[in-house]
Amino acid sequence: PGTPRVALVTGTSSGIGEAVVNMLCQQGHQVLAVDFNEAGKTVAEAAGAAFFQADLTGGDACRAAVADAVKRFGHVDILVNNAGIQHVESIEAFAEDKWRRILDLMLTAPFLLMQAAWPYMREGQWGRIVNIASVHAQVASPGKAAYISAKHGLIGLTKTAALEGGESGITANALCPAYVRTPLVDSQIADQARMHGMEEQEVIEKIMLKNAAIKRLIDPSEVAALVAYLASDQAGAVTGSSWNIDLGWTAQ
Ligand code: NAD
Repeated sequence: PGTPRVALVTGTSSGIGEAVVNMLCQQGHQVLAVDFNEAGKTVAEAAGAAFFQADLTGGDACRAAVADAVKRFGHVDILVNNAGIQHVESIEAFAEDKWRRILDLMLTAPFLLMQAAWPYMREGQWGRIVNIASVHAQVASPGKAAYISAKHGLIGLTKTAALEGGESGITANALCPAYVRTPLVDSQIADQARMHGMEEQEVIEKIMLKNAAIKRLIDPSEVAALVAYLASDQAGAVTGSSWNIDLGWTAQ
């Protein structure tokens, strides 16, 4: 195990965020789990992490989350931007408030969180920013205009942070997973099954894994393992990159 660090992880009450909190705690880091869902408290406590409840669509909430980590642990070394939501609708019918909420949570919050954490990372001359993007940061699918725009934007933010952080020991990288078995995807499977009059297994095989070379969903722990690597001392030469964990989706 490397040097113990202070990590702030967002979107931690389930799915990928929960797996990341578990992994970073197991590695001996001090972790602040941030989520607007109170269920995140139980998840955090079970893993040995602290919890801060915040709706990250607000700028003050983002700054308060970093301030809470600093109050508890003195600084922030690792930031994992993971909180995310989905809304599926055609561009023609997409509600403006849904568009803004997705951009606020999935693009503006990562920016404000890294802005607030930056001085502490620079001061320590060591920082790791890991942004959970998506295969939908590389390619599009119909009906997901806001999500895809936010995720593509997150890649641009990641590259900019990499350039600005280079002289201060701060790295920034993005992860681009295809479908991971989480509550977010379970609800999409159920919706699509209803919409197309299909069995759930058929939705997984025919829709979600249509472009995948490896025909299975990804486990959250597989994503967490790559987060842990990118957050480690050993990954100090890796910055500005996007890591596909996409079952071969973008290989074609
Ligand atoms: P999830 O729904 O299990 O977790 C999302 C978390 O974000 C939840 O804990 C939720 O409470 C939290 N959250 C939602 N709105 C929030 C808000 N306003 N403020 C604070 N927290 C909020 O989903 P997941 O699948 O684990 O997704 C995590 C990330 O991974 C997202 O950014 C998602 O886009 C990305 N991702 C997921 C998949 C997948 O297939 N599951 C694939 C690629 C990328």
